[in-house]
Amino acid sequence: MSEDCIFCEIVAKKIPSKIILEEKNFVAFQDVNPQAPVHFLVVPRVHIESIDAVKDNELILIGQMVKVAKQLAHEIKLKGYRLVFNNGREAGQSVFHIHLHVLGGRPMLWPPG
Ligand code: AMP
Repeated sequence: MSEDCIFCEIVAKKIPSKIILEEKNFVAFQDVNPQAPVHFLVVPRVHIESIDAVKDNELILIGQMVKVAKQLAHEIKLKGYRLVFNNGREAGQSVFHIHLHVLGGRPMLWPPG
């Protein structure tokens, strides 16, 4: 756990969130500021700051996050969904604990506005 990390606090249940899945290595919860009718985050329990900070021997974690996202999207029968990792402030990353955005429930334009 990293100090001052809001997602570490959510994972440790020190602050509340709308958790939709808890697994040994991952938690998924609703985004507090949804950008689509469905918008949740898949978050590893381990604190890693960003995609750039993922070491080669940790890359399996990324595939596992995608697997969790896919399973949840199928469970709620999303017709399509968008998966997003923001890496770095310029890309819009605001929480420096890696997380996979899962967005859906409406037609999604590309590129996003
Ligand atoms: P990013 O900008 O890619 O780092 O995404 C961070 C996301 O975390 C944003 O979509 C926020 O709305 C979301 N977020 C921030 N704080 C919370 C929280 N306490 N509970 C749920 N989602 C949060």
